[in-house]
Parts: sequence; C-alpha cells; structure tokens
Amino acid sequence: MNEIPFLDLKRENARYASDIREAVMRVLDSGWYILGTEKEAFENEFATYCEAKDCVGVGNGLDALRLIFMAYIRLGFLKEKDEVILPANSFIATALAVSQSGLVPVFADCDINTYNICPRSVVEKLTEKTRAIVAVHLYGQVAPMEELQKIAKENNLKLIEDAAQAHGAVYQGRRVGSLADAAAFSFYPVKNLGALGDAGAVVSSDAELMQVIRSIANYGSEEKYMNRYKGINSRLDEIQAAVLSVKLRYLNRDNDCRIKIASFYSENIVNDKLILLHTPPDNSHVFHLYVIRTNERESLQGYLHDNGIGTQIHYPLSIHKQEAYQELSEVKAPVAERIQNEVLSLPLYPSLTRLEQKRVVEVLNKW
Ligand SMILES: *Cc1c(COP(=O)(O)O)cnc(C)c1O
Repeated sequence: MNEIPFLDLKRENARYASDIREAVMRVLDSGWYILGTEKEAFENEFATYCEAKDCVGVGNGLDALRLIFMAYIRLGFLKEKDEVILPANSFIATALAVSQSGLVPVFADCDINTYNICPRSVVEKLTEKTRAIVAVHLYGQVAPMEELQKIAKENNLKLIEDAAQAHGAVYQGRRVGSLADAAAFSFYPVKNLGALGDAGAVVSSDAELMQVIRSIANYGSEEKYMNRYKGINSRLDEIQAAVLSVKLRYLNRDNDCRIKIASFYSENIVNDKLILLHTPPDNSHVFHLYVIRTNERESLQGYLHDNGIGTQIHYPLSIHKQEAYQELSEVKAPVAERIQNEVLSLPLYPSLTRLEQKRVVEVLNKW
C-alpha cells in the first residue's frame, strides 16, 4: 500500500493541469502582469459566486483582513486601541491583522462540539471599547452567524468573516462572503480554493468600504501617481487570478467531494477512543479539514505515521498562548486550551480515492 500523505497538492492541481497551463500561458503571452483583465475578471466571478456586490483581489489572506481594518479606520468606524473579538483557536493571521492595525485582539473561547467561536463567550468579552467581531469559519464550518449578527447589531459592532477556510460554504441559503459586513479570503495553495502561490481577496457589498480597500491595496492611489491614502502594495497578480478563475469553476464539485469523504469518515470510523467531527446535515461545512480528537494524540499520530498515513495538528497552541502574544497569556479560553492538546487532522482532499479513504478508516478502527 502506498503512503497516504496529509495533502498531495501536486495531484490536486494535476486534475486541472491543462486548463491551468493554458491560463498561465495566456498571461505570459499578454505581456501584462499586474492590475489587468485577469484580476478584474476573477473579481467579478468571485463576487458573483459569493453573492456579494464586489471583490478586491489582494496579495494574501492576512492582507485581506488587514485591509478591512485599515479601511474601517480611514472611514472612522474604528480607531486605534478599539477592541476586536476573535476566537482563541484560529490561525494566527486572524489576530495579527487586528494587532497590526493598531487594534486590540480580545480572545473568545470556542464551542466544544463545532470548535467555532462561542457566542456566549463573545458576550462575556464585550466592553465599552468593543467595535468589531471576527467570525472565523474554522475547518470549513460556518461560524454561528445568526447569533453573531444579533450580538453585532445590538452592540453596533462591525462583523467580519475570516473565510480563509470556507470558500463556497452555504449558511441558511446564503454563501460565505455575504454573511457579514465584509469577508476576507485566502487563496494560499492548500485552501479549498487555492492559487499557485500567495493570493487573497476581500468580498463585501459595502461600496464605500470597497472603494477605500481597492485604493489602499494599491498604494492608496486611484489615479496613477496621485495618492489619497498612505497605502500598501497588496495586489492579486494576473497569473494567480487566471489560475483562480480556472479553479473557481470546479470549487462546488471539489467541495462536494470533500463533503462526501467527510460523511464516509463519519459513518465508518468506529473507535471509542476517538471523537469525530461534528458534521451538519447541509453544506454549511465544506471540510477544509477533518479534525478528530483524542486524549492520546501523540500515540495516535505516531501509529498513523507508522502505517503510512500523514496527519497534521490545527492548531497545537491557541493564539493567546503563543510566544508572540505573551502579553495576553493570562487570558482564559479553557475549551480552546483543552482541545489544542487533542485535535488531529486526517487526510481529506478531493483527489483522495475511496481506496485510500477505506485504508484511513481501517487503520483508525484497529487502533
Ligand atoms: C490561511 C488563513 C489565513 C491567512 O491566509 P494567508 O493567505 O496565508 O495570509 C487567515 N485566516 C485563516 C483562518 C486561515 O486559515
């Protein structure tokens, strides 16, 4: 039996190789590599896909989040030292975007079943200074947006989606990217919609916000060499945009594959020592990751490795326990702190064959 790597990006992209090659060559031959028709086309396609009015292609997911905060500061909705509530168990980019914008990250705890931000914890963390909430759709599952929308409305807060792990997920009939005031996406190669390098996007239907973001992302300029804001350089390049347009056509199909594999795992993995992933009966979870839990994680990871099955840990340390945030180490998020020692992500990607899925199940059931 061949090894089953945690993720095989070469095999993933090989499925669309001829379309991708054609797209890349088209850009090469065009002689135009930054801020051109490919970016514009992808922005239109992705905004439509997300059921939002506008999309701005940017350099990466971190910048997408930062640009939302920078623009809200320019527009006077946020100011330095304002507090932003976010989950303690996310990828660190969510928190870095807040701190790098001069805002203060406030960590909420997560729900023990879904691992998404817990609305009760959000309410507990509200203060006079709270101005925004970031909802991370962790592992591909949409955060509890209905509750978060209610909290945001009652307290006059901006609600921002970190949708870097949930491209294409649907919540109560609406697509991720249109569930809040603005949404940030990453197209880092491993994501459900992945480029061949760094790439990201902001999606929103707020025209004023998007105009400022579009400008700040391009040196604060709307007209060449005329600079309205102290901007940054964060632009989705033409090659990545062309590749993303190809892959966007297959996103729904790929997400369906992920959902099928997740159901297969959930139905067939039977082992008292394992807690499986909560799988909602609709497509509000697009399984960027399939995460199980056990209190013997080290032993399980070693056993799977010895059986040729690759796994990863998302994430081994909550953000407030990271050295980078040592000033916040006294923050309490007991659920996040507990699961960081128990979570383990199994191989799950659209090109994973049924034979490989069966092998993962078989090995896990024998443990
Ligand atoms: C990947 C990711 C990001 C950051 O994306 P980059 O493109 O790597 O900057 C932000 N938030 C979450 C939840 C992510 O998974």
